[in-house]
Amino acid sequence: MNPGISKSVFSLLVPALAFNGALAQDTPAESLLRSRNAEFTREIVHVSDSVYTAVGYSPANVSMIVGRDGTILVDTGMTPQHSDAIAAAFREISNLPLAGIIYTHGHGDHTGGAQSFIQGAQPEIWARDNFGSEDRPLAAAGLTVQQQRGTSQAGFALPDTLRINNGIAPPMRPGRPNAFANAAGSDGSALDTSPNRTFSGARQTLTLAGISLELVAAPGETDDHLYVWFPAEEVLFAGDNYYKSFPNLYAIRGTPYRDVLAWSQSLDAMLAENAVAVVPGHTLPVIGRENTRQALQNFRDAIRFVHDKTVEGMNLGMTPDELVDYVQLPDRLLADQDLGEYYGRVAWAVRSIFNGYLGWYDGNPSNLSPLSPREEAEKIAALAGGQAALLDSARQSLANGEAQWAAQLCDYLLALDENAADAKLVKADALTVLARDSVNALGRNYYLTVAQQLRMEAGEI
Ligand SMILES: [Zn+2]
Repeated sequence: MNPGISKSVFSLLVPALAFNGALAQDTPAESLLRSRNAEFTREIVHVSDSVYTAVGYSPANVSMIVGRDGTILVDTGMTPQHSDAIAAAFREISNLPLAGIIYTHGHGDHTGGAQSFIQGAQPEIWARDNFGSEDRPLAAAGLTVQQQRGTSQAGFALPDTLRINNGIAPPMRPGRPNAFANAAGSDGSALDTSPNRTFSGARQTLTLAGISLELVAAPGETDDHLYVWFPAEEVLFAGDNYYKSFPNLYAIRGTPYRDVLAWSQSLDAMLAENAVAVVPGHTLPVIGRENTRQALQNFRDAIRFVHDKTVEGMNLGMTPDELVDYVQLPDRLLADQDLGEYYGRVAWAVRSIFNGYLGWYDGNPSNLSPLSPREEAEKIAALAGGQAALLDSARQSLANGEAQWAAQLCDYLLALDENAADAKLVKADALTVLARDSVNALGRNYYLTVAQQLRMEAGEI
């Protein structure tokens, strides 16, 4: 028994953390994650003669191509609150009218800021004809839980002091819906910024304001993805099919299966363009032909490796839990700092690939009809010598640096009593340790958000 280690166990372990205060000293994982801020510090990057990219103004990059008598945008940022400043910065560079907008995919962080740029213009707004396909099945089913999980993943409920970044983007908030007031049309209605031109084939040539572009269907992070190829200046706009992190092949907020093999094949097509620069959906552009090739190739290789190794293990009969150990990136790719797990994680990708191909059943018949969580918890508590001993073991595990096991032991206690305040506080402490040791921003945010909820439920904050 350790009566001295109760709700204050965490402050004994990590005195640097006051939960609602600033973190006095970063853990190594926090330092590494914070160092990624250099990839999305606010600036306008002059990528090539006619291409300018606004990085760090909004969670996603916004690019402007300046043509003979007009401009074209690739993506628009998340909200007018963020994108008004981009529009102002772009007007300093060119006052030409907006001729076109291209959405690389349907995610709101790339499409929500369009109104800032339109200002009475009537641009062609281009996207794939399956634009918005990721959300449609969830909306049609009436699912809403992914929004709540999305809030946890993004850390929106956390105090600013606990948010570092989102791995590939600054830690912004979505803003208030009424911030769109400046975007109202002359009759007071909101501007329609949805696509007014779509294409269904593999490749669509587009000429606007004297600029010729190719829009190329490229399923990856979403099925509705495209990339933009600007042949005259050999610039590739990747959308979220490339950015500087191990890719989010599965988002923990919950998404339909992201076709990992198709994503790697889209990168094959992007590599074949032999670009002199690639503009990612997030993080700084990569400039120079060799740098671009190397960046895209490593990103492609990481995706393909994780896919192929997972399939290899599946064919050997491995379960997802076993595959997570089996699939480890090779040293060559681990050495690439831009493939760190700041945004996506290999282990989560492995589970998603298994589930995407075979569904939930892991192949072990013990798992066809497992005990309920409560039944299992009763038996574990009995093995441990009772609930008090189980709680003590959870506290001891946490004190011994086994935060994951401590959290799992607390889950047994919470399966037996969902209101057990002491178990909630130990679990909150365990999740906080896991968060601070996570270089993955989304995991960190999720751990800390649930830790905060548990502390509130237990009456500690
Ligand atoms: Zn994005």
